[in-house]
Amino acid sequence: MKSDIRVCSAWREVHDRPVYSLTETCPECGADAENSAPAPFDPADPHGEYRRALKRRRR
Ligand SMILES: [Zn+2]
Repeated sequence: MKSDIRVCSAWREVHDRPVYSLTETCPECGADAENSAPAPFDPADPHGEYRRALKRRRR
């Protein structure tokens, strides 16, 4: 089964991290929640590892 987790479509502007939801709207700001296709922390994301490594280096 593919995930039916959705992510707030406006999280980049409204939240400082992705807000996930199982409904069609964000529970925190009420914006549309969109299917979290390329989830920022998707372990299957081919670039995720690279991005995480970069992030780690910044800390
Ligand atoms: Zn939101």
